[in-house]
Amino acid sequence: MKLKELGEEISSIEIDDIDRLANEDKWIEFTSINLGHWASVDLRKISDDVGLKELYDKYYVYTSGYMHSNWGAVRESVYQKCVNPLHRYHRIPTYDLPLMPSVTSDARNITNGILECLSEAYPKLDCRLTQSDKKEQEKSES
Ligand SMILES: [Zn+2]
Repeated sequence: MKLKELGEEISSIEIDDIDRLANEDKWIEFTSINLGHWASVDLRKISDDVGLKELYDKYYVYTSGYMHSNWGAVRESVYQKCVNPLHRYHRIPTYDLPLMPSVTSDARNITNGILECLSEAYPKLDCRLTQSDKKEQEKSES
């Protein structure tokens, strides 16, 4: 591949022969490669490595269930209890989609954490998100 990238040839072997040899047992497209950032690590490990495991535990674990459509999140967001007591509280699809609690406050806290990190690198950047007045907040959350 390097020779192909360089557009070079060598006298001892043809590039097509190298290509054939390299793909003999396993076609190169099926060979795993390490792309760096996400290779062999997950977000939990990364958060632990950078000292943000507490933040990960606080926000990620619960919300990732919604991102990955885990049963708990599906159950919470699109099912409701059947009201017939003889049915032993089984779940039925909800009649309308319920409004989930707002994530605005959590998002503001996380964003301010990011801005805090940026302030260390760029001391002149000292802006933070603040909570709007109650009336505005209620309007945006409804
Ligand atoms: Zn029922």
